[in-house]
Amino acid sequence: MVKSIVILGSTGSIGTQCLDVISQWPERFRVLGLSTNSNLERLREQAEKHTPEHVAVMDPAAARSAPSLCAKGVKVHQGMAGLLSLATLPAADTIVVATVGAVGLRPTLAAIQQGKNIALANKEVLVMAGELMMREVQRQGVNLLPIDSEHSAIMQCLVGGQKNEIRRIIITASGGPFRRKNLEAIGATTVAEALNHPTWNMGPKITIDSATLMNKGLEVIECYHLFGVPLEQIEVVVHPQSIIHSMVEFVDGSIIAQLASTDMRVPIQYALSFPERLAGQSEFLDLAKIAQLSFEAPDLERFPCLGLAYEAVRRGGTAPAVLSMANEVAVEAFLKEKIGFMDIPAEIERALDKHTPIQDPDLDTLLEVETETRRQLQQRLL
Ligand code: MG
Repeated sequence: MVKSIVILGSTGSIGTQCLDVISQWPERFRVLGLSTNSNLERLREQAEKHTPEHVAVMDPAAARSAPSLCAKGVKVHQGMAGLLSLATLPAADTIVVATVGAVGLRPTLAAIQQGKNIALANKEVLVMAGELMMREVQRQGVNLLPIDSEHSAIMQCLVGGQKNEIRRIIITASGGPFRRKNLEAIGATTVAEALNHPTWNMGPKITIDSATLMNKGLEVIECYHLFGVPLEQIEVVVHPQSIIHSMVEFVDGSIIAQLASTDMRVPIQYALSFPERLAGQSEFLDLAKIAQLSFEAPDLERFPCLGLAYEAVRRGGTAPAVLSMANEVAVEAFLKEKIGFMDIPAEIERALDKHTPIQDPDLDTLLEVETETRRQLQQRLL
């Protein structure tokens, strides 16, 4: 069967790699729809190569010049309504959500409600609205498959046991570029230094999140929702080689790990082909050449963002949405050299402490909290 795929956020790093995987398997996948925020040029290139029936452009200014894409007979959609149309196309089997930020929430929920399987790379969807999304996933009986090396690893490890047999989920972290720096040196970090990640090649926001370990914090929150395990059973271990992508320890003391090269096309392909495995296109591991795998405990004093993520889950309700949004604005402010590197966790903590969480929020409440947190932080920092 050929799966029809819609990629929301196709011009970003994950979206591009997703198209790379799809183009290797024309007998398995076809591209039904593509969307971008504002990168019209790349969207046009992608549309020419992958011949989708639909494209969507989110940014209003870019959307105005989007109809030029119509030349190829492609149906052009605009704005949030356009994303929602793509997410719910009757012919779509899997919706890849590779957008960045809160923009992915409504389309993901709409797609789940239409019975679509989701391949999820947009972290905020589960971080902000995990309970809501998972409730709907259960109700509709669809698959929500993670496009993140760690969660893909955990999902694969869980094949080895039952949920009630889990003792711990152990999420690995590369430790980022500042693993060996002291607190003072980390505080003096420049944007260029922070953007230079040792093992993964990613977009700027997630690269900074990796340097602060907030990326790992967000992954802990995602893991908590995706696999429904208590927060105390989710641990993070620093593993600088990034070869083990995560592990599950079962009650008998057995740990099952998933290892693969640091190539996002591995988890992308697994999310698209699930429950099957297709032949890999990326480098296979040469374990003798890797020679050593090492582990260390994360240092919450030098990397407070990780602890803040746990704290946000404990506070519950809208707190993780505040964490996520405060982080987004603080990272933007750091990238624009408005604040220092260690101001990122300080600003997030401040925003969390100012916020009284609303428990069991609906999507509108979450988006209101998100907008309000963004407004306040932007006013303060930008
Ligand atoms: Mg990851």
